[in-house]
Amino acid sequence: KAKSGGGNGYRLYNPAMERVEAVAMQIEQGLHHAVCNDSLVLHYQPQVDLRSGRITGVEALLRWKQPDGSLLPPMQFLPIAEETGQIVPITSWVLEEACTQLARWNHAGLDIRMAVNLSGVLFARTDVHTMVMAAIERHKVNPAQLELELTESVLIRRAKLFNRQLEKLRQLGVAVAVDDFGTGYASLSYLSRLVIDRIKFDKSFIDRLEHNQTDQTIVRSMIMLCRNLGIRIIAEGIERPEQARWLARHRCEEGQGFYFGKPMEAAQIAGLVRASLPGWQKDGNSPVSEE
Ligand code: C2E
Ligand code: MG
Ligand code: MG
Ligand code: MG
Repeated sequence: KAKSGGGNGYRLYNPAMERVEAVAMQIEQGLHHAVCNDSLVLHYQPQVDLRSGRITGVEALLRWKQPDGSLLPPMQFLPIAEETGQIVPITSWVLEEACTQLARWNHAGLDIRMAVNLSGVLFARTDVHTMVMAAIERHKVNPAQLELELTESVLIRRAKLFNRQLEKLRQLGVAVAVDDFGTGYASLSYLSRLVIDRIKFDKSFIDRLEHNQTDQTIVRSMIMLCRNLGIRIIAEGIERPEQARWLARHRCEEGQGFYFGKPMEAAQIAGLVRASLPGWQKDGNSPVSEE
């Protein structure tokens, strides 16, 4: 008995569907309070220069703290938030929080990038340019420190809709990255016509890198193409040192993945960044005030 999409009333009698809808309803109602409730949390995952090992930036990843203290991963509530429109206040919160944290790190002497994920439906529902600008100005962060991640599929489907908004942001120095690149159908030549600063190679390529010659060839040529087009590159989902070494050897600039660090609380980031800087010593005398 499938989830008939037919609107024939049939699904009302499907107990499995009813459960799914009950859970969705619960999430929707809970989310309503989440933004004002202080129950949304950002974790940060390091992005690393593969040659020097230096941490160049972090990606902000959203979690929702539950009453029992557990953290709900984004895929369990963001799709619902996109449907209901709650994605707008949620993203506004994410941008505020990310810029607040970035300003704190700047204040503590750290110069790193902050990558924030943007859902495609956002562009149909609100003026993203104004939303991003508000956060940047309020917290006085350098626009060049901010990077907006949009998935490949979103960029293809909605290019017309938000190319103008993205272009305006880019003129201010905000960078745009294509997330999960390689999972959709975008060709690099197509992407190069959009406004794009960085491409994030999807984890699925990186997973098979060590044993799959075809994937090696694909990744190698993507790296070369990007370099020739002046697009920055980062590989996602690096879990093993062999992958990091292979990518560095083939001139992939940056990497991100559990091998370098899982998404973590803000408090853990500053120490890691300092430890990754050249010339840093365990008993060095510098570290600035606590952040
Ligand atoms: P994404 O932007 O592609 O983020 C990478 C996801 O892969 C994260 O999952 C991260 O924890 C996970 N990951 C990173 N390195 C590794 C690795 O080495 N191995 C494995 N197995 N996984 C790795 P997470 O945090 O559950 O986020 C899932 C997705 O939710 C994100 O995918 C992004 O599309 C979306 N998302 C997260 N935060 C936000 C947000 O604030 N706004 C919007 N619109 N979407 C968000
Ligand atoms: Mg991302
Ligand atoms: Mg990704
Ligand atoms: Mg993903």
